[in-house]
Amino acid sequence: MKTGMQRPAPPECRQACDRLQDYLDQTLPKRESLAVFLHMRECGGCRAQLEMLQALYAKLGDLPPLEAPADFDARILAAVPYEAYRAMAPLRSPRVPILLVHESLPAWLRSRSVRLVGLVAATAALAAAASGAAAGTAAWTVAGVGCLPELSVRLQNLTRRVYVATVHRSIPR
Ligand SMILES: [Zn+2]
Repeated sequence: MKTGMQRPAPPECRQACDRLQDYLDQTLPKRESLAVFLHMRECGGCRAQLEMLQALYAKLGDLPPLEAPADFDARILAAVPYEAYRAMAPLRSPRVPILLVHESLPAWLRSRSVRLVGLVAATAALAAAASGAAAGTAAWTVAGVGCLPELSVRLQNLTRRVYVATVHRSIPR
């Protein structure tokens, strides 16, 4: 807080004055608070500063609580430039439904390695089925499950692109 008084020059005074606010708020660590207290006892200049602040705080504390005017909310709302905000609608990126946001899929499913392992497993299962080494149903199940992570990510991307394109076209220019 600027008090309008000239700042005392010695470093211990500067230090004490820097901590006055916290000292009065009683938020200083015990050691530092004690240091300020001891400095105030010895230094008249800093003590005058402290007493002035204390008097000021006492006056502020005596003030009646301020009430916002009745039309406060209405005046704030009236000051908001809604027209300008609306005019910028085409500039704002279109929102997509939460289902189309990347994060709506679990992280493990989106992970590159899971998708890759799934595809490799699916390819291996299909190859085994083709060569007759594995039973058809089991191979198709593995292939289906293996493709699932990659498929869901791709499907989400595709749906989002279609959605964004549709929404963009529907914004009036
Ligand atoms: Zn001092």
